[in-house]
Amino acid sequence: MKYDFNNCTELLKLCKKYNLPISQIAVKREMELFNKTKPQVRDKMKQIRDAMWDAIQKGIKSTEKSKYGITGGDAKKIYEGTKNMGNLLHSKVAVRAMAYAIATNEQNARMGRIVAFPTAGGAGIIPGVLFSTWEHMKSSKRRMLRALFTASAIGVAILEKGGTISAARGGCQAEVGVGAAMAAAGVTEMRGGTPEQCINAAALALKNCLGLACDPLGGLVEVPCVKRNAIYVNVAIGASDLSLLGIESYVPMDEVADAMMNIADNMWQGIRETALGGLAITPTGIKIREKMGLKPLPKKFHLKTCKDCNKCRL
Ligand code: SF4
Repeated sequence: MKYDFNNCTELLKLCKKYNLPISQIAVKREMELFNKTKPQVRDKMKQIRDAMWDAIQKGIKSTEKSKYGITGGDAKKIYEGTKNMGNLLHSKVAVRAMAYAIATNEQNARMGRIVAFPTAGGAGIIPGVLFSTWEHMKSSKRRMLRALFTASAIGVAILEKGGTISAARGGCQAEVGVGAAMAAAGVTEMRGGTPEQCINAAALALKNCLGLACDPLGGLVEVPCVKRNAIYVNVAIGASDLSLLGIESYVPMDEVADAMMNIADNMWQGIRETALGGLAITPTGIKIREKMGLKPLPKKFHLKTCKDCNKCRL
C-alpha cells in the first residue's frame, strides 16, 4: 500500500514524499485500505462530524442527570459561563471547548448517542477542542473535516505502533491521553500547522498524560471521566499552542507511544478499568458502589490512609 504507515515517523515521511498534509494521507490510506472513493471516505467522516455536533448541542442544553445522579448539567452551566467570561482566566475557546467536551461525555453518561473517538470515555476532547476552535476561527466545514482526519491518523499511528486505546490495558492515558494527542494534532492542522508541528503537538500532549490512572467510581464512565475530558482539553490546546510557538518535544512521538506501553505493562491492575483502586475506592467511591448495589469491595483493596500505616515520621 502506498499510503500505509505504522507509526508517526512513517506518517511524516509520507507527508514529505507526497507533499501532503496529514489529513490527506489519512484520506488516501482509507481509500486504499477499504477500496473507497474520496467522496465515500469524506461522507463517512461528515456523518461522524455531524453526530459529534449533535451530541454537543443536546449536551449543552440538558440538565438531566445520569442514572445514579452523579453527573449531568455541568455542560450547560459552563456554556452559559462563556456568554459572560467575567473574571475567568482561560480564553473563551478553551472554556467553550470544556463545555463541549463535558456535553459529549454527559450525553454518554445519559446513554445518548456519541462518537467514541477514540473511545466513549475519552470522547469529549476531540469534538470539544475542534468545534470550539472551528467556531473561533470561523473556519470552513472542510477544514473541520481535515482536522478530524488528522486526529484519526494519529490514533492509527499509535495503534499501528503497538499502542492501545484500551483503559483495561493501559489505564486512562490510553483513552484520555490518546484523545488529547489526537485533538492536539487535529487542531494544529486546523490552525495551519505543518505535519511536523501536528505530530509534535501530539507528542507534547501524550507525554503529559502518561501514567494516568483509570479509576472510575462504581465502574461508571462518569467520575472522574466527564470532567477529566474537560481538563484534558486544555492539555491539547496548550500542546498545540506550544508546538506552533516552536517548542519541540524532546522525546519524539513514537518513543512517547512506546513509553505509554511501558507504563501500561507495569500498571497495577486496580487502576486499569477495574474500579478497584484510586478514586474508585475512596469513601465517596464506596458510597457509589453501595448505591449501585455492587458487591462490597474486597478488604485487600480498601484504601489505606496515613492512620492505617503510621510508619512514616512526618
Ligand atoms: S477514568 Fe477510565 S473509564 Fe474514565 S475516561 Fe479514563 S479510561 Fe475511561
